[in-house]
Amino acid sequence: MTYTPHGRHLIAGDWLSSAASFTSDPATGPAQIFGAAGADLVESACRAAETAFESYGQTPVAIRAAFLEAIAEEIEARAEAITEIGTRETGLPVARLQGERGRTTGQLRLFAEHIRAGGHLDLRHDPALPDRAPLPRPDLRLIQRPIGPVAVFGASNFPLAFSTAGGDTAAALAAGCPVVVKGHPAHPGTGEIMAEAIHAAVLRCGLPGGTFSFLQGPGADLGASLVCHPAIRAVGFTGSLAAGRALFDLCAARPEPIPFFGELGAINPMFLLPAAISARGAAIASGWAGSLTMGVGQFCTNPGLVVIRADQAEAFTAAARKALSEIAPQTMLTAPMAAAFRAGCDRVALTPGVTEALRIPCADRQAAPALFRVSAGDWQTHPGLSHEVFGPMGLIVEAETEAEMVQIAQTLAGQLTATLHLEDADLPLARRLLPVLERKAGRVLVNGFPTGVEVADAMVHGGPYPASTNFGATSVGTLSIRRFLRPVCYQNLPEGLLPEDLR
Ligand code: NAP
Repeated sequence: MTYTPHGRHLIAGDWLSSAASFTSDPATGPAQIFGAAGADLVESACRAAETAFESYGQTPVAIRAAFLEAIAEEIEARAEAITEIGTRETGLPVARLQGERGRTTGQLRLFAEHIRAGGHLDLRHDPALPDRAPLPRPDLRLIQRPIGPVAVFGASNFPLAFSTAGGDTAAALAAGCPVVVKGHPAHPGTGEIMAEAIHAAVLRCGLPGGTFSFLQGPGADLGASLVCHPAIRAVGFTGSLAAGRALFDLCAARPEPIPFFGELGAINPMFLLPAAISARGAAIASGWAGSLTMGVGQFCTNPGLVVIRADQAEAFTAAARKALSEIAPQTMLTAPMAAAFRAGCDRVALTPGVTEALRIPCADRQAAPALFRVSAGDWQTHPGLSHEVFGPMGLIVEAETEAEMVQIAQTLAGQLTATLHLEDADLPLARRLLPVLERKAGRVLVNGFPTGVEVADAMVHGGPYPASTNFGATSVGTLSIRRFLRPVCYQNLPEGLLPEDLR
C-alpha cells in the first residue's frame, strides 16, 4: 500500500494549499512538492486552536482517552502506507519504522489509560475547618488544568514517535491542549499521513477542527512565527542545540513568555569501572558498538563518550574497534546531517591530543562508525570534545586515576543519561560518581546502554541544560503530560461549579 501526499496543510479541519512550496529530498524514490506555510496559515491554525480550547480544554478525561485510542487505531489502519512512505523519506529500515509505529500507538494508549485513572490530575483536598481557631480554614481543592494551545516541532530522527503524532502531541492532547504541529521537512509525506490519521480521529470523536492542525515548510520563519503567536501557551521540541536555543530565546522574549520544552541532545557518558572491564570488557565493547550505531547513531541517547581507566583503554579500544568495523555504512536521515557528521568527526580528529582508532571514508548520505581516543587531561583542555556529534561516533577518554574519572564527571554539562558499568568491587567508586552523575543527567543506568527509551510511568527523558530545557520535566513517559498542565486551586467552590474531573 502506498500513500501519495497531496502537500496541503491541515487547518481547523480543512486541508488548505499555500502559494509557496518546497520539494522533499527522500532517501529513495522521486521528490515531491509540498506547500510551505506562511504567517497567514500560522494565524489561522493558532486562532482555531484557541477556539477549540474553549471546549476541548473542558472535555472530561473519558473523551480525551477515547480520542487518543482513536488516533492509535487510525494509525494502525494506515500501517503499511506509513511504513512505506516513512522508509522512502528517511532511509530507515522497515523493521525500525514498524517498531516505531508500535511505540507511537502504545504511547497513545498508555496515555489514555493514565488519564482515565486520573494519574495526571494530582488531586489534593484540604477540607474546610470552620471551627479552627483563630481562623477557620476554607475548603481547598487542587487539580491540574490544561494550559492552552501547544506548538509541537516534529523531530527528524523519530519520524513517528517524536513527530506529528509522537510524544509531545500525545501528551498535550492527553492534557486537554489543542496542538499545532510544524512537521519536519525531512519527512513531509510521513508527517502528512500521520496528520490524516489524527484528523480522522478528530472527526470520529466529534471534536472541534482546531483541536489539531498541521503545518509544513522549511526555514526558521515558520517555527519562529508559531512560537511567537500569542495563542500558543507552550512548545514541545526535539532537535539541535542551536535551533532549540533560538526558539527558547524567542519564547522567553515574548511579551508574555511561555515554557519551551526542548530536548536538545547529549553525549550520554558511560563510565566503565575497573572490575567491570576486567570481568567483561570485550562484551561491554561489543554492546557499546551496537548502541552507538543503532539508528546510525541518530538517537539523542546515543552514548558518544566512554570514560575508562588508562591502563584498560588499549584492550577496550581494540575490542570496540573490531565490533564497530564490522558494521557497514548506513544511510543517514538527511544529506546535511551526513555532512555535519563528517564535519564533526573531522573537528574531533583535528583536536590536539586526539588519536584516531577507526575512520571509514563515506560519501553522500552514508555514515560509517568512527572511533577516537584522548587523555582525560586533553579532554578537559578542549571543551569542543564534549559537543554532540550526531551520528555513530565514539570518543574514549582515558583517566589515569579514579579521582580523574570523578573530575571528568564533574566537568560534564547536562546530559539526558549517564551510565555506570560495574561489578561489586566497583561499588566504592560508583558511590563517589553517583552523586555527581545524578546532578548531570535525567536518567542514570547501571550495566546497560541508554538507547531504547522505555515509554513508562517512571521514565525521565530530560536533563539539565543543554540536554534539555525541560526543568523538572520529561518528554517521554506519562509524566510528560504534566508539562502541559498547571495547578489550579479551587477555594470554597460549590460542587456544581467544579470541573467534572474533580467532582
Ligand atoms: P534542527 O535543525 O534543530 O531543526 C528542528 C526543527 O526546528 C525543524 O523544523 C527546523 O526547521 C526548525 N528550526 C531550525 N532552526 C530554527 C530557527 N532558528 N528558528 C525556528 N525554527 C528552526 O534539527 P534537525 O533538522 O532535525 O537536524 C539538524 C541537526 O540537529 C542534526 O544534524 C543534529 O546535530 C541535531 N539533532 C539532534 C537531535 C537529538 O536528539 N540530539 C535530534 C535531531 C537533530 P527547518 O528544518 O525547516 O529549518
